[in-house]
Amino acid sequence: MGLIVQKFGGTSVADSQKILAAARKAIRAQLEGHQVVTVVSAMGKNTDILIDLAHEVNPRPPAREMDMLLSTGEQVSVALMAMAVDALGYQAVSLTGAQMGIVTDDTHTKARIRSISTQRLRKALDDGYVVIAAGFQGVDEQHDITTLGRGGSDTTAVALAAALKADQCEIYTDVDGVYTTDPRLVPAARRVCRISYDEMLELASLGAGVMHNRSIEFAKKYGVPIHVRSSLSDIEGTMIVAEPEFPDQPVCGAAVTPSEARITIVGVPDVPGTSLEIFARLADRKITVDMIVQNVGDKGKSDISFTVPCSELEPALQAVQEAATIVGASEITHDDQVAKVSVVGLGMARQVGVANMMFSALAREEINIQMITTSEIKISVLVDRQAALPALRAVHHVYDLDKEPHTLPDGHPDRTSSPTSPNGPDLGNLVERLQGMDMERLLISDVELDQSQALVTIVGIPNRPGVAARVFRDIADAGIFVDMIVQGHKGYLGRISLSFTVPQQQLPAALDVAQRLAEFYDCHTVTHRQAVAKLSVSGIGLRSHTDVAIRMFRALARAHINVDMISTSEVRVNVVVDGQAGEVGLRQLRDAFQDSLL
Ligand code: ASP
Ligand code: MG
Repeated sequence: MGLIVQKFGGTSVADSQKILAAARKAIRAQLEGHQVVTVVSAMGKNTDILIDLAHEVNPRPPAREMDMLLSTGEQVSVALMAMAVDALGYQAVSLTGAQMGIVTDDTHTKARIRSISTQRLRKALDDGYVVIAAGFQGVDEQHDITTLGRGGSDTTAVALAAALKADQCEIYTDVDGVYTTDPRLVPAARRVCRISYDEMLELASLGAGVMHNRSIEFAKKYGVPIHVRSSLSDIEGTMIVAEPEFPDQPVCGAAVTPSEARITIVGVPDVPGTSLEIFARLADRKITVDMIVQNVGDKGKSDISFTVPCSELEPALQAVQEAATIVGASEITHDDQVAKVSVVGLGMARQVGVANMMFSALAREEINIQMITTSEIKISVLVDRQAALPALRAVHHVYDLDKEPHTLPDGHPDRTSSPTSPNGPDLGNLVERLQGMDMERLLISDVELDQSQALVTIVGIPNRPGVAARVFRDIADAGIFVDMIVQGHKGYLGRISLSFTVPQQQLPAALDVAQRLAEFYDCHTVTHRQAVAKLSVSGIGLRSHTDVAIRMFRALARAHINVDMISTSEVRVNVVVDGQAGEVGLRQLRDAFQDSLL
């Protein structure tokens, strides 16, 4: 006999019939011999309605009172759900966050779970009750009601599954699983049978609305298998687990973030501490920054570009203006008509030519790439908003996401050693070691130094469709393995610079190709660094704890180390610095993250 946590979202409990249908699913699981905890969200759009109501009374409602109000939505659902189970002839008990002993911090409206005491839950389960648990809520140490942030019932469900060591967590929703991309945008999108935590984390943070990304962090940390499935049918949905189904598949999903804005700070003195000056101010205002690219500068100056959600453009510009004055930058430009298109896959880290496929697909559609950033498991490009949808379709198609994937035969040239996660060590018996710690605290699994790479930059390539495609096709044709790629927004004479890292022993070959391309495109110059150091911090919670990159910048600035490149993902932040600075940088970072290191 196992223990199952089921979660029903707002649409799955939107009316009395749906509540009864959900109750039947819970009872069925119990009849199959399981102990069942059912987490429910507020009915339908109730949370939105409550928020609107609050704003009618007070345009800036106090956060504590907001939580008092919003938590009632879930209280309605749990009571009705327990009544439904009772009406069907079975025993159920509804419990609020406080009654379940879900203790959070006191950050009202976006509280983090600290601990869950399972005694009462266990007793009710052992007594044969279906436990109906209110999602999205908890209490702080003052016993004040808190909520976990919009969509937080997923997090309640996975956290309960973790605390109760459940065998599985089933997320019932109005879609039948996780798709290769949003099927409303790309009808050819396909449901995937199995996806890894890391891939799902990336897709969730890129706005694939299926699940709250903190719930995936929980699942990864505590090894909870998640089954996302439809509340309307019985078909198998998508399993979210540690390992992907097809480790050799370079890309498992694509996403578009349509409402991005780009900000560029021009003429920033290229000295340690300037990035810190800028990004610390953005972090203070809790603005989420993505696609950070620093253009290798002219005469000791560089340009820094990054993206923010359109909704945060105004405060971001204010923050940047302040920083620009202090660091002595010459100009700030921005564009709110851009979109980010990304592909995600654990398999891409081990294969040659993956990025090149994306760039070529965009070139064929004559779509100009304004910026590029990559991490071990994600490639993002910034394009004109008008081009976002054609870009997404082209990219989805080029990686065969519309077709059933298959495993590469053994001995395939692209296959390297065994498929290991590029995101730090196996978290193994982590669960035991996490006993007694804040459940949602930042966890750093590793701080690493990679001194095997060299950096190549082509300065001044033309800003037009097809250039990146050509560059990385030639690089891939030469058999060169590219790790990080960044392309900044246009700077010098409207031209752009493209940087990438390669293994040191492949530097001569890479320079050959770069020189040839520079001549072909009549470029400004090709520069390189024989030896760079890539410093990485990996772990769980890097995105929800937004200050990780800032802490890295701060630690490196303290040692007067200049950051040349940065790439971020949900599970890892990488910075590239001068090769000489590697060892010192590593020590600095180890110190800075001492308290979060496992
Ligand atoms: N009812 C909350 C919301 O609408 C929590 C949830 O649905 O997950 O955000
Ligand atoms: Mg939801």
